[in-house]
Amino acid sequence: MAGNWKMYKTPAETTAFFEKFRPLVEKSEHCEIVICPPFTNLSAAAAVAKGSPIRIGGQNIAWAKEGAFTGEISGSMLIAAGATHAIVGHSERRQYFGETDASVLKRAQAALEYGLTPIVCVGERLEEREAGRTAEVLKKQFADGIAGLTEQQFAKIVIAYEPVWAIGTGKTATPEIAADAHRVIRGEVAAKFGKDAAAQVRILYGGSVKADNVKALMAQPEIDGTLVGGASLDAVSFASIVNF
Ligand code: PEP
Repeated sequence: MAGNWKMYKTPAETTAFFEKFRPLVEKSEHCEIVICPPFTNLSAAAAVAKGSPIRIGGQNIAWAKEGAFTGEISGSMLIAAGATHAIVGHSERRQYFGETDASVLKRAQAALEYGLTPIVCVGERLEEREAGRTAEVLKKQFADGIAGLTEQQFAKIVIAYEPVWAIGTGKTATPEIAADAHRVIRGEVAAKFGKDAAAQVRILYGGSVKADNVKALMAQPEIDGTLVGGASLDAVSFASIVNF
């Protein structure tokens, strides 16, 4: 169960969140819990999460080790700040910051080189769904991005299916729509990396997940977890999602 805080919260607000959230999930052993705050809050988050089951992630990662890449954060910087995960290819990065399947692949490879777990996001836009192109879009994102990983690299990633029309809109995909998309992605995994890889890879659903819809989504065997934006900003709400 992963939380994406986007561009919300200061370090002080991060500490306050974790002080409230930590006791609510201390005994949650049924899933991994990851929170991805803004880069400037990673150290604060890691300090309060220390010794708890909560893991910390970046919202992006540079493909380069270091150098003249203004505005980027490297894998070693994420690790030094206490991160274990990194979101890669979020639709907001694709929409506003020119992220492409090719750069998503490079960033995922960089994360893996540092031993960070990439949470690789894919998902179709509203007009693509309405044009009946969902499967085609997911297959292309897979082929041009994730499929460039080796089998060993692929075994370490998490995929997040996030239909763009459901992100931050309050329009959750129905559990059936989400499960259908997960089946398309899993089919691509099976074709490229084999049946075992397809059975083992964790595919999260993301898009307006809330405490009151998480149970129905998680009841779908295809859905292995959720990536949560807005509802992960409140400790009680995200804890209810984690403990669905
Ligand atoms: C996200 O940011 O990845 C997301 C799914 O946002 P929200 O839960 O707010 O739709």
